[in-house]
Amino acid sequence: MRLAWHTGFATTARDHFGGLGSVIMLHRVRPDCISPLGVTRSLSITPAFLEQIILALKAEGTELISMDEVVEHVKTGKRSDRRFVAVTLDDGYNDNLNHAYPVFQKHSVPFTVYVAPGFIEGATVLWWEVVESIIVKADHIKIPNGPEWRCGTLFQKRAAFHAMMRYFSYTLTELEQMPVLRHLCEVHGVVCGVAQDRDVMSWNEVRQINSDPLCTIGAHTVHHYNLKKLTADMVAQEMQLSADMLEDKLGARPQHFAYPYGSAKAAARREAEIAASEGFLSGVTTRHGTIHAEHRNNLHALPRISINGRFQKLIYAQTMMSGVTTPIANAGRRVIQA
Ligand SMILES: [Zn+2]
Repeated sequence: MRLAWHTGFATTARDHFGGLGSVIMLHRVRPDCISPLGVTRSLSITPAFLEQIILALKAEGTELISMDEVVEHVKTGKRSDRRFVAVTLDDGYNDNLNHAYPVFQKHSVPFTVYVAPGFIEGATVLWWEVVESIIVKADHIKIPNGPEWRCGTLFQKRAAFHAMMRYFSYTLTELEQMPVLRHLCEVHGVVCGVAQDRDVMSWNEVRQINSDPLCTIGAHTVHHYNLKKLTADMVAQEMQLSADMLEDKLGARPQHFAYPYGSAKAAARREAEIAASEGFLSGVTTRHGTIHAEHRNNLHALPRISINGRFQKLIYAQTMMSGVTTPIANAGRRVIQA
């Protein structure tokens, strides 16, 4: 990526690959990294890096717009000299209010936060963070009637984390995740929900951030399930109920949606069709790509550019937003859809 930028390839390729603009994906924005094993570090960037990106985008004349405006731009498909960037944040971490919002406010940048009400109300937890806390404490983890992992050393702990991520994501059903996690928390004396109490915005905080016109609140299902693993009825229910709850608490129905996990293994054509029929104007995935006029028929499967906390370098972000990395990440394809 560094080479692509320095050779000027990214700038010239931008016209071909960059399309109309990009949607940036963030999770946590905080000055300190709180991942004890370093395994969830990629979900976190610092407010200083966020500000650096915004200043660079403004300096190159990029238009910073809301998700409503993204939909308008894609529908009209008009290419202008100015490309756009929309900033989005997933899961509703309270550092979005405490650390990211002041930066957005200072530079008048519109942003969208995709909120899953289940995190706020404790129906589900940020399980990947709870898994990390359990592994930090434990020397050995055993799932009843399931696999076990040794985690005495840092090396074993990291390996166990990745194995448990796969186990929770692909072996357990979505409905089994929480009972298994609660059991492990009990065995290892970890409070199942501390992370969510400490890290996720309360309803009052969501109302507070939403009171600024710069902010759009989008839906992110209720329970943060991998939708591809649910029946079509359950997918529709998760989407509808999350929109109902947000409308009830905020007084307006959310118009935009983000698929939990959002990879091709978690959201595809069926999920995009259901999101459209549930009335959302747009749906964003976590698949890597920039936004093109071709997305006008695919507004419910918009790819994003993830700004990774592991590589907080401006040139990486700029190179990805040029679109030059889109075909590299997607078997040669320039436009990424469902
Ligand atoms: Zn999420």
